[in-house]
Amino acid sequence: TIKNNNITYALTEFGLEPEGYEVKKFGSGLINYTWKLTGSKGSYILQQINDTIFKRPEDIADNIRKLQIFLQQTVPEYLFVAPVPSLSNKYLIQSEDGSFYRLLPFIQGSHTVDYLQHQEQAYEAAVQFGKFTRLLKDFDLKQLKYTLQDFHNLSLRFEEFKTSCAQAGHSRLERAKKAVEEVFLNMDIARIYGGLISNGEIPLRVVHHDTKINNVLFDGQGKGLCVIDLDTVMPGFYLSDAGDMLRTCLSPANEEESDLAKIHIREDFFMAIYNGYMKEMGEVLTPKEKGLFIYSGKMMIYLQALRFLTDFLNGDKYYHITYPEQNLIRASNQFELLRQYNQQEDRFLQLIG
Ligand code: ADP
Ligand code: MG
Ligand code: MG
Repeated sequence: TIKNNNITYALTEFGLEPEGYEVKKFGSGLINYTWKLTGSKGSYILQQINDTIFKRPEDIADNIRKLQIFLQQTVPEYLFVAPVPSLSNKYLIQSEDGSFYRLLPFIQGSHTVDYLQHQEQAYEAAVQFGKFTRLLKDFDLKQLKYTLQDFHNLSLRFEEFKTSCAQAGHSRLERAKKAVEEVFLNMDIARIYGGLISNGEIPLRVVHHDTKINNVLFDGQGKGLCVIDLDTVMPGFYLSDAGDMLRTCLSPANEEESDLAKIHIREDFFMAIYNGYMKEMGEVLTPKEKGLFIYSGKMMIYLQALRFLTDFLNGDKYYHITYPEQNLIRASNQFELLRQYNQQEDRFLQLIG
């Protein structure tokens, strides 16, 4: 059991007796601090927002509140896990040291998955991310704030990469030579993105932007319940969600794997993501958007490779590392995944027709 002054303060603000709750670190999220509060009257999730990454936590709270009101009015039966108000009716509170806290109901009987065991889980997750965007298809996007500006803006990420090349020291540039070559070999992916944006060819939608498997709650039978972790919900392209599911689910080895021989693409997971997402979004997406499903995977793998490589060239300032060349390895890993993905493109086309 953990109790510090901030946690005690937060519980009190939310009207919970600190003595009545057991507090334990919870989950394997990498961004926020998360605790589970267990008490006789129910359980909660308490989170401290990572305000190094999210500069304006109140924008997140506003976004979620607006989505909640819209969903309550349009689909009251939908399980939308939103923060609960404090005694003074605030959805986000600030402790004396300036950190931000929110309280969510703990969804009883739910669990998250950190590592995909079978393609049904990928299917269920894709259904939930698709459903989320579908239910919000008539939500007025102007009401949403950008909690991370340009998060998945591939054109900007490409520019940042070029800047990092220009400024990198000789040694890092030399070590990154092969990866840098991969960037230019696959430059078409960035060019296509630029075209899509400047011609306004695909619509902005309410997009989750963090479709990791552990951002979906499952029930005891393994059915998807809902999506969680709504910090990055912003206007965006569906390519972000579809593409990042493909990026993170297709290979049994994830982006941290340094043995690149372990990376390979599982066709059944590709189909699961396609079928799950299209079950919900098939009738919502425009023909142009649908035609970009395979592209979405390339876009997100390339974007992530660029971000790792850029960080390596910049001297590892953004992603936490535990050994010296980790960001370069991560980038090489993503380029290997991209290479195999490109190789499978015709097969993917055959599969989805
Ligand atoms: P992060 O941004 O750090 O990933 P998350 O909001 O995803 O934070 O929360 C971390 C983990 O806590 C989730 O992966 C999930 O296991 C658990 N969790 C979060 N909210 C809830 C909830 N309302 N009910 C049950 N579990 C939750
Ligand atoms: Mg999360
Ligand atoms: Mg998060």
